Parts: sequence; C-alpha cells; structure tokens
Amino acid sequence: MSTIQQSLQNVRSRIDAAAQGCERIPQEVTLLAVSKTKPVEAIAEAIAAGQRAFGENYVQEGVDKIQYFAQQPEGYDLEWHFIGPLQSNKSKLVAEHFSWCHTIDRQRIAQRLSDQRPVGMPPLNVLIQINISDEQSKSGIVLSELPALAAAVAALPNVTLRGLMAIPAPEEDYQQQLAVFRQMHDAFLALKQRYPQVDTLSMGMTDDMAAAIAAGSTMVRIGTAIFGARNYAQ
Ligand SMILES: *Cc1c(COP(=O)(O)O)cnc(C)c1O
Repeated sequence: MSTIQQSLQNVRSRIDAAAQGCERIPQEVTLLAVSKTKPVEAIAEAIAAGQRAFGENYVQEGVDKIQYFAQQPEGYDLEWHFIGPLQSNKSKLVAEHFSWCHTIDRQRIAQRLSDQRPVGMPPLNVLIQINISDEQSKSGIVLSELPALAAAVAALPNVTLRGLMAIPAPEEDYQQQLAVFRQMHDAFLALKQRYPQVDTLSMGMTDDMAAAIAAGSTMVRIGTAIFGARNYAQ
C-alpha cells in the first residue's frame, strides 16, 4: 500500500473515532483532501484509494489539475473545491471549473461567480467564510455581517448557499479549539433554519479535526495528514 493510501485510511479512522466519540455518524463528515502544491501523481494515489473530493487554494494550479484529470480515460467523477482567497480577476476560472467555493466574503464576488457560471453547469455550491477568531490578517466576515451577506448570496440564481467555512487561529488546546468551533456551529444552525438548503459546515484541518467534528463539522479539509508537509519553496 502506498504512503498516501495508508495516510488516507488513517485520517478516515481518525474521523470515525472523533465522530463515534461524540455519538455522531461518521458518514455525516465529508473528507476533503487538500492537494494544494501536490503533484497530480499524489492526487492519483488518493483517487486510487477511493478519495473523490479535493480542495485547491490557487486558481490556476487547481484548474490545471481539474483539466488533467478530466482528460484521463478513466472518466473519474471528481469533485473540486476552491478553498483559497479569491480575487475578482480570477472568479471566472472558479465559476467555470469548480463545483464548490468555500471563501465567499463579499457580495461582489458571489455576484461575479453567479454571473460567470456557464449555462448548463449546475449552480456553484458556495460557503460564506467567517473570520471566527477575528484576526486582522485573515479573510472572512465577522458573524454580525452574516445575515446580510447570506441574504444577498441566497438570492443569486447560479450559486447555491450551502453553509459556512472557517479557519480559526492556530490553537493547541482542545477545549479552546472546541469553544471556537461551537460558535461556528451555532451560527450554522441559525443559518440552516433560515435557508433549508444549508447543510455544510466546513471546518477542521490536520491539527484540529477532532474538535471540529465534536463541534458539528460536516466537512474537514485535510492536507498534511494525507499528503505530508507542503514545500512552498519549489
Ligand atoms: C492548506 C489548507 C488546509 C489543509 O491544512 P492542513 O493543516 O495541511 O490539513 C485546509 N483548509 C484551507 C483553507 C487550507 O488553505
């Protein structure tokens, strides 16, 4: 078995254990494999191990990989999620190639994605990013801005508001992680009540997935634990 296959199995067991530990059903938690900076060979190994949903942070790198796998004779049924900061001048590529965008933080970008979604493709699934730790340097909106942005996004024809995403400030203490993720879960439940199509709470990465799942995450975004450390210097 390859290292990536083994790592994937290991991550899936960690998800199962975290879910069972809080009496949740493991199938409620989708594993998004974050493949940014990793070559197509590494992604192919993950596909061989049964992984189908992948997250990418850089638009052009993601589009290149999407096109590479679309051209393979196997006809893989992959689902690609854009999870990086999105600039207006790159929105068209995201609208044309991805199934999901996790980083909606302003009405203008959601409007562009809706306008640019090609006719014949299903609506782009979008998540509003919350700056839950209120860090100056991080993208995302503060929770008080959520009702207005959610209403604006939900009104657009070619995007579907599916929920919320967050990247909390790094924190080693499990209880502290849990406290932050619980704020996200409260906001998610309130949003879901208002918009019945909302079903996705994207939170939890390699170092905090257990707390995220305990707090109600439905999608964990895992890179390092599957593909190993990233080398940005290349
Ligand atoms: C890189 C990245 C991840 C994966 O982080 P790991 O710690 O490697 O699991 C998840 N979400 C986002 C938004 C990322 O940019």
